[in-house]
Amino acid sequence: MDILDKILRGVNHCFFATGLIGSLYLAGLYTSQKISQNNSPKIENQAYIEKILEKERKRAGIKENIKINAFLNNEGAAYSQKIGKEEYKIILPYKDSNLSDLRHELYHIADGHFNGGETKSSIRYALEYLFWQEPQATIYQSTGLKL
Ligand SMILES: [Zn+2]
Repeated sequence: MDILDKILRGVNHCFFATGLIGSLYLAGLYTSQKISQNNSPKIENQAYIEKILEKERKRAGIKENIKINAFLNNEGAAYSQKIGKEEYKIILPYKDSNLSDLRHELYHIADGHFNGGETKSSIRYALEYLFWQEPQATIYQSTGLKL
């Protein structure tokens, strides 16, 4: 009984530590994105996207043959999506978007984060996204560094 109690306490500490580290990690990622967004020029209309998209996609290293459609709309968060073999769309929320968000989404496209997803398990896909792709895109949006 005493040993089982000790094991259960150990397991509880382990879950607690994992949960705490995971929470701190996510909070750190979120805070890094927010700091970067606060120091970045606002994207207030579609004309501004058209004006900066060409320069920004070149900066991210996206090949000429890849088509990118970027739009402002009423969705709550920025995201990007592969919509064809060499075509992507980027959605930026109308209320609160900036250059930093656009760079973040362009990095996901430039680094091929949408490629090969069909062959990965959903757990592997989620882990790669959370611990590799999302930090990479966050570093790029904050510093311009490509890892
Ligand atoms: Zn992302």
